[in-house]
Amino acid sequence: MGKFPIADEQLLGSVVVCRRCKARNKVGSTKCRKCGGSALRPKNKELRVKK
Ligand SMILES: [Zn+2]
Repeated sequence: MGKFPIADEQLLGSVVVCRRCKARNKVGSTKCRKCGGSALRPKNKELRVKK
């Protein structure tokens, strides 16, 4: 297990993923920059790994 760059963690915490095309968008975006869909969800779910 390597050490995770803090910048990467912040990046993950401030990113939303489009449900349609899975493109990453910045938090605050109301539309996906790729497909224009509004179904965005935060990419936070995998920060804590299950044991
Ligand atoms: Zn999209």
